Amino acid sequence: MDNKWLETLQAALDEAEMILVGLGEEWEEKRLFKDDAAFQAGRQYLDENDLTWLIPAWNDYCLTRVDSKAAEALDNLRRFLGEKNYFVISTSASRLIAATPWHEGRLVMPCGTSDKKQCGSDYEKKVMPLTDEEQKKLFCLMEELWKLSEEGTDPDQQAQAGGIDLRDQANKILGTCDVCGRDYRLNTVYTDDYREEGYLTQWNLYTKWLQGTLNRKLLILELGVGLQFSTIIRFPFEKIAFYNQKCRFYRINEKLYQLTPELREKGISVSKNVVDCFAALC
Ligand SMILES: [Zn+2]
Repeated sequence: MDNKWLETLQAALDEAEMILVGLGEEWEEKRLFKDDAAFQAGRQYLDENDLTWLIPAWNDYCLTRVDSKAAEALDNLRRFLGEKNYFVISTSASRLIAATPWHEGRLVMPCGTSDKKQCGSDYEKKVMPLTDEEQKKLFCLMEELWKLSEEGTDPDQQAQAGGIDLRDQANKILGTCDVCGRDYRLNTVYTDDYREEGYLTQWNLYTKWLQGTLNRKLLILELGVGLQFSTIIRFPFEKIAFYNQKCRFYRINEKLYQLTPELREKGISVSKNVVDCFAALC
């Protein structure tokens, strides 16, 4: 790998007083399984059966089936940031990102994560972490969906034939709210009635932290962020970089690496996959 950009990045990190890190969908490594027929069949089943709220869990599961270095790359990134004053924001709902031991309170995931569940009621605003047992059950459910998808078995026909009813299991898997009687769903943007309470406390810390960056030497790392949720990371980061006179901006992205003309002086764009970049870091 051509490592010149990496040397400048190390220097930029050393100089920076604060580091703003944006993580996007490239960390989910869909490139490794998106063309797999079983992945596609499973995804289609979720889409067609009102189970889109399980998409993040399906993505997380499919990642466990392939040889991905995403976890290692995230840990390398964390170690690279070291004791610096950083804040991480993610548009991905990946469990790996949620599970990485960043500095306490320095991660915000506005699109939610599949390790929390919610009841959709407006009154209770209830969001809570999944128990270990629920995590395990969810994994087994995804495993079952994979098995059926791989065999080309229609889950509904299996249910009609007296086998496991996948849809029914999915709807009951996280239990039922004892106040309003709704079935719990994962707390992510893929769930109807997404409860933003799951990340708002962190969001408040994040916006306060951002206010403190204005006259500081700021390093912005936009890593593998696409355009799907562009108002969360891509556009705001460009704006922050534009207004901060002491800012350095790195955009690493396999496909969407181009910089806007205003940022060319402050910015460096690296047209590489972020997982490859940080997995190779040592
Ligand atoms: Zn409820």
